[in-house]
Amino acid sequence: MKALICDVCGHVIQQPQPGVTYFHFAHRDLCEPCQDQLQLILKPITRSRQPFNYEWYNQLVQDSIETAIEKGKFN
Ligand SMILES: [Zn+2]
Repeated sequence: MKALICDVCGHVIQQPQPGVTYFHFAHRDLCEPCQDQLQLILKPITRSRQPFNYEWYNQLVQDSIETAIEKGKFN
């Protein structure tokens, strides 16, 4: 499989393996460090949200990624 480019930081992912070296969310491809950052951002937000709502969560993921793409990073 050809190399992928992380949509957030522009890092080239060699030999991309879904769920291992890259992560696909909201039609975007994220490298592992960016996926880690995303989870760090989402964790406290999703914890405070009861009951959990999948639609809300998907929107949150999408918004977080789009904001990060504009900035070129997650923080
Ligand atoms: Zn990245």
